[in-house]
Amino acid sequence: MTPKVPPNCGKCGLCLNVCPVYKQMKEEQASPRARMQLIRAHKNQTIASSPYLKEIMSKCLMCGSCTANCPSGIDHYSAFMKMREQMAEDHGEPAAVKSLIYLLARDYRTRWGSTLARTGQKLLPKKIAESYKLGNIALKNMPRLNAVPFRNTCEEIILPDTQKPDRQKPDTPKTDTKWQNIQRQGSDKETGTVAYFTGCATNYIYDDVGLATVGILKRMGYKIIIPKNQTCCSIPLLFHGAKKQAQKNIETNIEALKGLKVDAILVDCSTCGEALKHIYPSFFNKNDPASHHAIAIAQKIGDVLSFIDDHFDRLTFNASPKEKPVVTYHAPCHSKNSFQSHTTIENLIKKLPFVIYKKTCDTEECCGGGGTFFYEFPKVSKEMTDKKINNAKAIHATQWLTDCPVCRMNLSGNLKKEDNLIIKHPLSLIYSALKPL
Ligand code: SF4
Ligand code: SF4
Repeated sequence: MTPKVPPNCGKCGLCLNVCPVYKQMKEEQASPRARMQLIRAHKNQTIASSPYLKEIMSKCLMCGSCTANCPSGIDHYSAFMKMREQMAEDHGEPAAVKSLIYLLARDYRTRWGSTLARTGQKLLPKKIAESYKLGNIALKNMPRLNAVPFRNTCEEIILPDTQKPDRQKPDTPKTDTKWQNIQRQGSDKETGTVAYFTGCATNYIYDDVGLATVGILKRMGYKIIIPKNQTCCSIPLLFHGAKKQAQKNIETNIEALKGLKVDAILVDCSTCGEALKHIYPSFFNKNDPASHHAIAIAQKIGDVLSFIDDHFDRLTFNASPKEKPVVTYHAPCHSKNSFQSHTTIENLIKKLPFVIYKKTCDTEECCGGGGTFFYEFPKVSKEMTDKKINNAKAIHATQWLTDCPVCRMNLSGNLKKEDNLIIKHPLSLIYSALKPL
């Protein structure tokens, strides 16, 4: 079904200058305004479904900037998702996207696919790895997949570090014996309990993020629950119009997270956060019990970095190096537009005593990764990515932090050795600087 289009687009054009694809291509058909008009025309049957219409609907990063900035309150995001569903039904998807949907639609398939891909990475001749690309990323620059899925390397329930962090409690005189006793004896009382939704990127690609999350939360005194039977949040499926395939995953995740007696359910990726907080609650019919569970879960969703920022005084760090590295931040679109955690994350990085933070002139601009955008539209994507890289180099940063796995893969995949930049998740940076107990 073509989505209903609210009739209130004033054609003001305010969505144009916030749309990364329009800004790059400078063509009306690449703008959110045009996409909304096309959806309306399709609904009114004044234009027919065609592969060209599908291409226009796909040439969008699903970044959410248009929705976040439209004065008429148009929900482009939902309208685009429904239209993509229709386009996929009418015209199918490229083989690579179909395979991705197939693999992500069941966790056992993702596990199987990642094992196969990892073996392929090991056996791939160097020449081929250097000369072939996946979209705009050379195969040699793709991240190495985890040897073992992250969730298989840890228990489902992880207890906090029994000893309190060796922190200096602000304003506490050294003669405060109660405080000194706590420091000496440690405490086996938990500060609280949180659940951790790892998403598939941490589980299969970037296990350093999982290790860092667990290490930091334990140090802060939290008990951590990592439900084993969680699976992909399904955003990649929904963005490709695979609503039916996404449903099973969404039900599995709701089942895994419902009723947990926790202070918060934390995500390390704002796109997973977007799914759990904003998409799941409206996915089911209001009378469906799954809808009630999804709403209850959504109320507890938070991002790990903002959570750390709230409890920053529980962490102590190694002495800062004499020469502090210059770091900068790339704000992922979903952190900025839907999860709205980017300012808190940037402020948290600024607070870290062991680095010098420098802002680029385009911290909040999209990097062009956008799920599979870097694969489907490599030329536009590459132009956007190269601009970001040049601006990060211009401030002489040596570490580039970002909290989205696709941005990390896209940026690191396009860096050259001589750029002298390493891409990291902010959690890995924080974890590496924690003072040992
Ligand atoms: S900002 Fe909203 S109202 Fe203005 S052109 Fe874009 S969709 Fe239409
Ligand atoms: S979601 Fe992002 S890329 Fe897509 S139309 Fe809106 S602003 Fe442009």
